Amino acid sequence: MLTLKGKSVFRGIAIGSLALFHRHAVATAPRTVTDSGAEIARFRTARQASLVQLQELYDKALEKVGEEQAAVFEVHQMMLDDDEYIEAVETKIRDGNLNAEAAVDRAAQEFAALFRNMDDDYMKARAADVLDISHRVLVKLCGGQAIDYGQYDGVILAADDLAPSETLQLDTDKILGFVTSGGSTNSHTAILARTLGIAAVVGTGTQLPNDVDGHTAIIDGTTGMVYLDPDETTLARLQAAKMSLDAQQAALEEVRGLPSVTRDGRRIHVYANIGSPDDLPQAQAHDAEGIGLFRSEFLYLGKNDYPTEEEQFQAYKRTAEALDGKLAVIRTLDIGADKKVDYFGLHDEENPALGLRAIRLCLTRPALFKTQLRALCRASAFGNLAVMFPMIISVAEVRRCKALLAEVRHELDAEGQAYDPDMAVGIMIETPAAAILSDELAKEVDFFSIGSNDLTQYTLAIDRQQTQLDDFFDPHHPAVLRLLAQTIANGHKAGIWVGICGELGADLSLTETFLRMGVDELSVSPPSILPLRAKIRSLDLSQGCRK
Ligand code: PEP
Ligand code: MG
Repeated sequence: MLTLKGKSVFRGIAIGSLALFHRHAVATAPRTVTDSGAEIARFRTARQASLVQLQELYDKALEKVGEEQAAVFEVHQMMLDDDEYIEAVETKIRDGNLNAEAAVDRAAQEFAALFRNMDDDYMKARAADVLDISHRVLVKLCGGQAIDYGQYDGVILAADDLAPSETLQLDTDKILGFVTSGGSTNSHTAILARTLGIAAVVGTGTQLPNDVDGHTAIIDGTTGMVYLDPDETTLARLQAAKMSLDAQQAALEEVRGLPSVTRDGRRIHVYANIGSPDDLPQAQAHDAEGIGLFRSEFLYLGKNDYPTEEEQFQAYKRTAEALDGKLAVIRTLDIGADKKVDYFGLHDEENPALGLRAIRLCLTRPALFKTQLRALCRASAFGNLAVMFPMIISVAEVRRCKALLAEVRHELDAEGQAYDPDMAVGIMIETPAAAILSDELAKEVDFFSIGSNDLTQYTLAIDRQQTQLDDFFDPHHPAVLRLLAQTIANGHKAGIWVGICGELGADLSLTETFLRMGVDELSVSPPSILPLRAKIRSLDLSQGCRK
């Protein structure tokens, strides 16, 4: 038995087979081969396997997100079936006695350059697609898929760390738990685990050996322990602990469907944080009263190109319709820092968390921003949507955002397109500057939502991604709590509601404190909703202050 200790991200226990996440370094160095026929056969097998995989992805996307978003996989199949592409690769192998990897890579670069040099914007964008399909073939040539789910119904995923875009590629239906040697409890990978409500331990500091695929593992999210090849006593102990956790979870069913109200009658809204409409069933299954944070940047991650207005419109419309009149707060694009997208062509920065991210990027690229605002306004005609701007530091920024929103509304008026003219406009309070200026900012908007993850990072000057700093990253720090109290008080003075959508909102040890500060809404990962509601319903704020 191998025992590892890390930091728990979600209280839960998972027992299952381990699957290692292989990040394939695709080796494309040229080699002279003696048997070019065999090399062509390798290419054909890899191409065929890629086509099968694309068909699976198409079917899954069709079922989960609809035809429009699934179409990209159909286009990729057509490109991979293109005679000219196949011929280009096979000629390079045959005539140059080249290995398949180098031939695919060279053909991909040539086709991509050809597309890039075309006049038509649509064709230019196909450069990314040809690189993507070739990468898929290269991964197959270099050793197979990123995770071998094998014959298992569910697996425990082990990785060094996962980028947000990588988490999007995972078959989340099949993942029972995560263990990562790196990563921090505040990273977006950790947030994904919380959204899915699966046991996860990060920052174990130990890379697992390569030959443990399929071995039994246990993740104990209550203690941060991970056991590989557990002995019988450990297995029995954790099976019992899992049963008791499951029973606690079942007991929470009592508060399903009930309002989140304290014993003395204070009503709080308990909303869910989501990353895409795919998370809506999760939010509904956990009885969310609305969506307090839709991290819209996840629509941009894990893609080769910008999502179109139509794609975004469909995603927001689906959300609005599914909520059936309940509020859904869509946060505008928060790309940058740890959420990177190649096609944005952003330069490497010395301090990305302090760099061109979120609203700064949107205000620097108004066309990109306006596309999102158009999609959002159009979708607002189908339900109760609100828009929220992230990483605000000044009144001037809010006014620039509102001016662009007004421009978009004028354009939609001119085109005769429907939208909700009363859609609420809010901002995230996640920089100390915004919290300090919250009295002035409150006059500009309809609501505040406090992003405690970034507010903690920027107040304490601690990188939320840095595993070694997790012990110093203290969202309970009095400076953070004072900024929170000040923001809530200033919001109320101006007559607007104030919520918390950072991870701190789910911290039950602070629920009473937040309620006494006067918070109106708490938006948390879906599995945290019922525990939070039960906590709220147990409190009596008329009973004097608990110290
Ligand atoms: C936050 O910073 O608290 C927040 C909710 O935004 P994100 O975690 O996506 O940066
Ligand atoms: Mg944030």
